[in-house]
Amino acid sequence: MLKMNRKRAAIIGAGIGGLVTGYELKKKGYEVRIFEKEKEIGGLLGDFKMSDQRLEKTYHHIFKTDKEIINLIEELGLSDKLKWHKSSVALFYDGIFYPFSGVIDLLKFKELDLISKIRLGIVYLWLKFDKNFSKYENVTATDWMKKWAGKEAYKVIWKPLLKGKFHNYADKISMAWLWARIHTRGGSTNEKGEEVLGYMEGGFGQIINKLAEKLEIKLSYKVESKKLKELEKDFDLIIDTRRTKNVDYIGAVDLVFSSTQSLSKYYWHNINDLKSPFLVLVQHTNLMGNKNYNDKNIYYLGTYVPQDHKYFKISDKEIEKEFFDYLKKIKPEFDEKQIRERKIFRMKNAQHIVVLSYKVPSYKVNKNYYQLNFAQIYPEDRGINFAVKEARKLIKMIGV
Ligand SMILES: Cc1cc2nc3c(=O)[nH]c(=O)nc-3n(C[C@H](O)[C@H](O)[C@H](O)COP(=O)(O)OP(=O)(O)OC[C@H]3O[C@@H](n4cnc5c(N)ncnc54)[C@H](O)[C@@H]3O)c2cc1C
Repeated sequence: MLKMNRKRAAIIGAGIGGLVTGYELKKKGYEVRIFEKEKEIGGLLGDFKMSDQRLEKTYHHIFKTDKEIINLIEELGLSDKLKWHKSSVALFYDGIFYPFSGVIDLLKFKELDLISKIRLGIVYLWLKFDKNFSKYENVTATDWMKKWAGKEAYKVIWKPLLKGKFHNYADKISMAWLWARIHTRGGSTNEKGEEVLGYMEGGFGQIINKLAEKLEIKLSYKVESKKLKELEKDFDLIIDTRRTKNVDYIGAVDLVFSSTQSLSKYYWHNINDLKSPFLVLVQHTNLMGNKNYNDKNIYYLGTYVPQDHKYFKISDKEIEKEFFDYLKKIKPEFDEKQIRERKIFRMKNAQHIVVLSYKVPSYKVNKNYYQLNFAQIYPEDRGINFAVKEARKLIKMIGV
């Protein structure tokens, strides 16, 4: 029975945004109930079991600058699980994997002439130190990069990245989005100035579970207009974390597998080939080691695709075939027989499309109905740190 003297909040969606909002509202004395359409909680940060370990459905790491999520991890008593590891990046272009972690790697990179490399270096430093993003809001990333980094660097570096991530939207993406990707990424370094990334032993799903322990969640409950009207009658406050209108989203597909075979010494591999079915190859266990995964190597082959793409229609086997055929081309030593477990995840609303003069969707819909969606994160790229930040910002805004 709900107590009549406490204010009641309904939250639609049990992703990290909805869960943190519920957790904060509960601290403020609200009776909270969360409605989630899936059978499981976590949304894009959901996890599953592979190699006897909980693992994110799609690759996740955090940066040292992600203060909100780091503080939440501490508040939930999980700090001992968060470990920082040196990152390592490779870039695949024209049949070759190149190390791509810093200035030395850029200078050694054979696919660009010296002038393009210098321009690329200057552009990177410029964006890293330029704090004012407003001048990037009305120019596309494509036009800006062609102009300032040059046509060669655009073709080799930026075009594959933008096309791989945004497909038919690639040429519409605002430079403000790309500015934020580069600008906020610096600062996650160790004492030697090398990039470090954070990962929780046992997975980020522990944050989700800790938050959920404190909350009442109704699973397999899809909220649509009729149910929403009922909720509006029954609750004093509604927080809706479903996709927002007026913004386009793109989907994501991931093939995760464990294998006895190690394919690379790098953690992150950008696949700069417009013909590749995946954008990144992540050898997850190259970040934190494979001790906790029964000595298996864990991989993600990940890509972003439009919501009407065939990957949302064809079978897992068909996706697997496309991905593995291509993996075999770029890593001829890849041996499917050494795979122990495999799983495919498809996410329809994985990334919002940040177009020119992007309008952040409003938070308040009516008196007691608010939207909280990662499409409100701007210009930074959406991420779990910003989900926490936005949830807390909304609570302040509502003034509870
Ligand atoms: C491929 C990929 C890689 C990523 N990597 C990183 C990373 O390395 N670091 C990082 O910080 N972030 C990363 N992110 C981003 C991060 O996962 C998201 O920003 C974050 O999880 C979003 O949380 P959310 O609660 O805002 O949204 P969601 O997780 O989308 O939650 C929304 C919830 O609402 C539910 N829902 C939707 N419709 C209804 C309905 N009608 N009724 C009831 N429930 C409904 C959904 O099922 C879902 O559970 C990545 C995302 C992707 C896709």
